[in-house]
Amino acid sequence: MGALSEASVREDLFDPLAWSTETHERNMRLAIKAARVSVGLGGAPIGAVLVDDAGAAVAKGYSLVAPRRDPTAHAEMSAIRLAAGRRGRFHLSDLVLYSTLEPCSMCLGACAWASLGAVVFGADGNAAPAEYYDRVDYCAVCHAEGALRDGVRTPLPIRGRVLFGETATLLRRFGGASSSGVRSR
Ligand SMILES: [Zn+2]
Repeated sequence: MGALSEASVREDLFDPLAWSTETHERNMRLAIKAARVSVGLGGAPIGAVLVDDAGAAVAKGYSLVAPRRDPTAHAEMSAIRLAAGRRGRFHLSDLVLYSTLEPCSMCLGACAWASLGAVVFGADGNAAPAEYYDRVDYCAVCHAEGALRDGVRTPLPIRGRVLFGETATLLRRFGGASSSGVRSR
């Protein structure tokens, strides 16, 4: 078997959506910790973490739109940028993104461009403050079933509502306004 086909086989065996519920919940707890850090930094209560198949957290991302005055500084984007820098490559197919909130269209696009192994989120859009969702659609599930799937050879595997209660409570407790008073996610 040549190197290329061995790599293909390994990729075929990487099936994060088949991981146990315990594994998903453990990884989501890392994202919840990152969300608490985001709040401490003046951002929104959203966190993300990229995990490899050994369970190691390769990169954490914080939601820092208001403190950094950067509309792209969502937790998922931050984690992807950091991981790509650390790995020295932009394809991150060996990593799984855990986000406390259903990714927006921008972040989901970045996940697809990074060829992530999978995306797992906690609370879905309905659990978030309305102002998080007033500009773009945030329907990761719709994308998974539609736009990112139609005509796409390798669709992004997506699973939602992992630790839904904890991730939704986080959003409700800390609300949508950042410490600067500017509403942003
Ligand atoms: Zn986003």
